[in-house]
Amino acid sequence: MKGLFVSTIDGLPPLREVIKAHDLVAKKQLGQNFLLDLNLTAKIARLAGDLSACDVLEVGPGPGGLTRGLLVEGARRVLAVEKDPRCVPALEEIGAVYPGRLQVINADAMEVDVLGHLNAPVRVVANLPYNVGTELLIRWLTPKIWPPFWQSLTLMFQKEVAERIVAKPRSDHYGRLALLVGWRCDAKIVMHLPPEAFTPAPKVHSAVVHLTRLEAPRFAADETVLNRITTMAFGQRRKMLRSSLKGMGPAIEAQLEAAGIPPTARAEEIELERFCALARIVAAG
Ligand code: SAM
Repeated sequence: MKGLFVSTIDGLPPLREVIKAHDLVAKKQLGQNFLLDLNLTAKIARLAGDLSACDVLEVGPGPGGLTRGLLVEGARRVLAVEKDPRCVPALEEIGAVYPGRLQVINADAMEVDVLGHLNAPVRVVANLPYNVGTELLIRWLTPKIWPPFWQSLTLMFQKEVAERIVAKPRSDHYGRLALLVGWRCDAKIVMHLPPEAFTPAPKVHSAVVHLTRLEAPRFAADETVLNRITTMAFGQRRKMLRSSLKGMGPAIEAQLEAAGIPPTARAEEIELERFCALARIVAAG
């Protein structure tokens, strides 16, 4: 990287130069829309909370804009999992400036087991590839044992997905994802980004969501029963619950009433607390 223009938050070359030097032409199939503004990536890192005592898991570091933000903002260690081998040399150059603080794994985040490489407490911070973002989020929200390995998730999503994550009842975006998130986390949108913030610019707007885990689910409920109920209820979200939940058995109408839910209500009107009450009643038989 000798001879390149240096005027950045960390003394490393600007990201445009890094991309040019390593010929990192963006690949659509890998969801590569890069953030090149290091002030912006440092801001996202700050939104994740105090990183100084944390290991950070970053999925999809690409040329390393957010990685650099995380390290500048004092992350104890960053474990960066990147599928595209072309990005590895660029990431190694960052690691050389922060000895012992950046580990790069060249792998598919859907397949690699990262737990052995992380020490608690862990925060996850990522500008996720859109094609795997929701699936990874659901995996992180549904581990075998709760609480999970992470304290918080600070994640970039398409704006519409971010709205589904934080949605409240009686809104178009309210559904199973909002219920799952609300059951186990506090969640809020902490930043909005226009398409022009990325290179190349995607077609959609984006938003960063910050989720903090609860130590135990917000309301008692059996996960499998709750899941069955919400899958049925939102599978036919415009129908009355007494009809969409018919498959739960003949007692469902009485059970809805016992849970404080009018059988004529629709799924999108019902708060998490009521769904959990229904799950307890159904589980008790
Ligand atoms: N973090 C960088 C930034 O903010 O500029 C890049 C973000 S870009 C939206 C998504 C990144 O995830 C790309 O670098 C892409 O190669 C990587 N990626 C895509 N699918 C992946 C997967 N299954 N596992 C790990 N990385 C993946």
